[in-house]
Amino acid sequence: MLHARATTLVAMLMAVGWHPARTQTDPRMSGGPLPPEQAAYDVRFYDLAVAVTPDDSSITGAIVVHADVVSPLEVMVLDLDTVFRVAETSLEGVGLRHERRGGQLWITLPRQYRVGERLAVRVAYAGKPRAVRRGGFDGFIWAETPDGLPWVTVSCEMFGADLWWPTKDHLSDEPDSMALHITAERPLVVATNGRLRSISESPAGRTFHWFVSTPINNYGVSLNIAPYVEVVEPYANVAGDTVPVTFWVLRHNAERARRALPEFLEHMRHLEDLVGPYPFWADKYGIAETPYLGMEHQTIIAYGANFRNDAMAGIDWGFDGLHQHELSHEWFGNQITPTGFQDLWLNEGFASYAQPLYAGSRLGRHKARELLTVYRSRVANRQAVAPRDVLTSHQAYTGDIYYKGALVLHSLRYLLGDEAFFTMLRRWTYPRPAAAEATGSCQCRLTSTDELVLHVNRFAGRRLDWFFEVYVRQAPLPRLRSRRSATELELTWDVPNGLPFPMPIDVRVGGVTRRVEMPDGSARIPVGEGVEVAIDPDGWVLRADER
Ligand SMILES: [Zn+2]
Repeated sequence: MLHARATTLVAMLMAVGWHPARTQTDPRMSGGPLPPEQAAYDVRFYDLAVAVTPDDSSITGAIVVHADVVSPLEVMVLDLDTVFRVAETSLEGVGLRHERRGGQLWITLPRQYRVGERLAVRVAYAGKPRAVRRGGFDGFIWAETPDGLPWVTVSCEMFGADLWWPTKDHLSDEPDSMALHITAERPLVVATNGRLRSISESPAGRTFHWFVSTPINNYGVSLNIAPYVEVVEPYANVAGDTVPVTFWVLRHNAERARRALPEFLEHMRHLEDLVGPYPFWADKYGIAETPYLGMEHQTIIAYGANFRNDAMAGIDWGFDGLHQHELSHEWFGNQITPTGFQDLWLNEGFASYAQPLYAGSRLGRHKARELLTVYRSRVANRQAVAPRDVLTSHQAYTGDIYYKGALVLHSLRYLLGDEAFFTMLRRWTYPRPAAAEATGSCQCRLTSTDELVLHVNRFAGRRLDWFFEVYVRQAPLPRLRSRRSATELELTWDVPNGLPFPMPIDVRVGGVTRRVEMPDGSARIPVGEGVEVAIDPDGWVLRADER
C-alpha cells in the first residue's frame, strides 16, 4: 500500500464522512474475524469480466468464483459493495436465489455441498463504484489525460476488493490463479495483473484478457485504463533470463518514463540480489502511471510519483522512493501475505526498511542513517505494531507499521549481525532457496508474526521471543537508563510491563566502540573520569528517548 501519512488517514476518512465500521457487513471494511459462512469455502480461481464506461462512471461485471468446500455448505457468502445492483446469481447456468445483507451477498445453493466438492458460482452485477474521495485512496478514479481522454484506475486495500467485484474479502484466502477480462472503448488500453493473453473486439470495445498464474491477494488486483503507450526496457534477471519490463505511461510522459526505467531496474537488481528473485517473472513486471500516488498491485505497480524523488511521505529519498517501496511489496505483501491486517507490518515494515537498505547500498551509509532518523521522528507508539487481536484494515493501519516496523527490523539486524540477518531475510522470502534461485518462481504463502518469530529463532539459533514481545506486541518502547560514576557506566533497560529485554548495545568509550551484552537487562562497564562516552553511536537500537 502506498506510503501515506498513515496516522492521519483514519482522521481524513472520518472527515469525509466515513466512520469505523459499525457492523461486519460494512463494505468499507476489510478483514477482521472471518465469518464461519466464509471459512466454509476456499477460493481456487476467480474469473472476472468487467466493462468500464467512463461516460457515466459505471461498470458492468460478472465473476465466476470457483471454490472448494471446506465444511458443509448451503449458502455461499460473498462481499460486494452496496452501490452495485446484482443482476443474477447462478450455478452451472441455473439461477440461484440471493439476498443482500449490507455489504454481503448470500447466495442459496441448490443443495448442501459436501466437504471436498468444488462449485463455481456466477454473479452478474452493475453500478457506479465508489469514487476516491479527497485525501483518500480507496475507490475508482475517473480522471482525464491532458488531451481529454479517460484515465481510469482503482485501488482498494483499506476497503477491500468488494469495492468493485464480488469476492471473499479476506486476506486469508487467495485464489491459485485469476483471469481478468477488462473491456474499454478504443483507443483506451487496459494494463492489469498477470500476462496479456489476447485482445478481442466487440461492439462494446476491446476486451483485454489477462491471466494471473500465481496466487494473488484481492486488494492486489487492479485495473489501469488510459490511452497508454508502452515503454519497454530489457532486464537481465538474477535467474539468468532477459525479460522485458513494461511501463504503461501517458504519451507526454514517455520520454521521462524511458529515462526513469534504468533506475527502476536498479531497484529490481538490488532487491533480487538482497532477498531473492522477483517472484512473478512467470507473469511479468510492469508499472502503470496512475493519477494517485502508488500501490503495490501485483505485477503492475501503480505509479503516480510523477518522477519525483520526494513524492512519497514528504521525504527526499535520494532516489525514486515510491517506486522502490511499491516494488519491494512484490516480495513483502504479494509473495508473502499476512492472514490478517493485524500483521500488516509484515508488508509495510519490511517494504519501508527496503528504502534505507537501498540507500545504504547505492548512496552510502550516511543516507540510510538520515532516512532512519526521519523514521524515528515519526514513531508514535500508540498501538502495538502487531497486536494479537484479529483486526480489520482500518483498525490495523497506523504509521507505526511502516516506520516503527522498519526500525524494529534495523534493531533485529544489529542483534543478529548482518550475515545471519540477511540469510534470515532471504529464507523468509524463499524457504526453498535452490528451486527459487534457479527458476525465479513464486513461493507465495500466507503467514503471520508468530511464524516470523519462529523463523528468526531458527536463524538466530536461540529464542528471541522477548525481542518481539517488547517491540511489536506492545505499544510503548523500552528505555535505556544510564548512570555514570567516577569509575563506571551503569546501563539498565527499563521495559514497560517489566518484560525481560536482554538487548545488547554499542558503547563508544574514548573513541573505541564495543558491544555491551546485557543478559539480565543491565551492565556495568569501567569508564575513567573525563573519558568521552557515547551510547549506541550508530543508532542501531530502537528505544525511547532518555529522560
Ligand atoms: Zn507500502
